[in-house]
Amino acid sequence: MAESTSVSYTENLMKYMKLDQKGSAIAEYVWIDANGGVRSKSRTLTSIPEGGFKPEDLPVWNFDGSSTDQAPGDNSDVYLRPIAVFPDPFRPGPNILVLAECWMSDGTPNKFNHRHEAAKLMETHAEHEPWFGLEQEYTLFDMNDRPYGWPKNGFPAPQGPYYCGVGAGKVVCRDIVEAHYKACLYAGIKITGTNAEVMPAQWEFQVGPCTGIEMGDHLWMARFLLHRVAEEFGAKVSVHPKPIPGDWNGAGLHSNFSTKEMRVEGGMKHIEAAIKKLEGRHKEHILVYGEGNDARLTGRHETGAIDQFSYGVANRGASIRIPRETAAKGYGYFEDRRPASNADPYQITGIIMETCFGAAK
Ligand code: ADP
Ligand code: MN
Ligand code: MN
Ligand code: MN
Repeated sequence: MAESTSVSYTENLMKYMKLDQKGSAIAEYVWIDANGGVRSKSRTLTSIPEGGFKPEDLPVWNFDGSSTDQAPGDNSDVYLRPIAVFPDPFRPGPNILVLAECWMSDGTPNKFNHRHEAAKLMETHAEHEPWFGLEQEYTLFDMNDRPYGWPKNGFPAPQGPYYCGVGAGKVVCRDIVEAHYKACLYAGIKITGTNAEVMPAQWEFQVGPCTGIEMGDHLWMARFLLHRVAEEFGAKVSVHPKPIPGDWNGAGLHSNFSTKEMRVEGGMKHIEAAIKKLEGRHKEHILVYGEGNDARLTGRHETGAIDQFSYGVANRGASIRIPRETAAKGYGYFEDRRPASNADPYQITGIIMETCFGAAK
């Protein structure tokens, strides 16, 4: 990480982090913007409740939606309704990260607020105890918008040594990945693990299993933490599903799913029934599985083709993969490999519930 100014920045910052806050806490409100990214701003909370901060006790706040393409200039106030609280790894102490939903002044959800609909679906079908585990792939870019560590002109050697790679020349930016992992654990994100991916400068982390709406909440906060950590190292996080055209793997958001019925003996018939239903709504799913996914779902590079639904045991070239272990035991979970890395987890988990169990009440 030679080119960044991160060392002096972080060291100086750590000095200020130790100053006494005089009984106040800082809340960093985080929200989802119009471009699949996150935005945030800070405010002071002057009293700290004994039992810890709860979303329902935190103030509703607002921002200028015309500056984020989330609202028109003549009706620009967008409201931030707190929905989840996490300890803030960047400001040790009583300070918190607040995930907020975006709402309009007329009481309707902002058009980029997909959480509201997903939460209704999760509530309607809560009896099935849905578990999700999402695998977030992403690519780190330098400030010239080139994948980090790639030669200025030309390309690295072909794919092969990079996936789960160890050693110089195989992986870059492990410092970012490690810092992000620790930041997630500190914040209480249900992060499962990380690995280097097939394309150099591409990585993955997994979050789950999470029940219902918690999946989107934890994944979005994990994305915020990744952008925030990478900022300190002078690297950009790209969730583009096909960042480099050609013989380079794209980036996905594999979505693993199970219900109470699928996780016990006899579960396979529930898994098969769900896959049948997914087959009938392939097009509808693709519509919310990320922008630019057609460049990724080619039927090559460990994907199934975008216009063809398929499934199979241990098949990484299918839309849906049933893990070998699930097939062997006769129960467990399955993996929807179609979602792109830039998809909204609320839309993915929402439509899976809708397709398997029907509309929200
Ligand atoms: P892959 O072999 O496809 O690379 P990973 O190990 O990267 O899989 O990710 C698997 C994800 O599936 C993890 O996030 C994990 O929490 C999740 N998972 C495991 N068991 C279940 C289950 N029963 N239901 C839903 N998700 C699950
Ligand atoms: Mn994985
Ligand atoms: Mn992967
Ligand atoms: Mn996977």
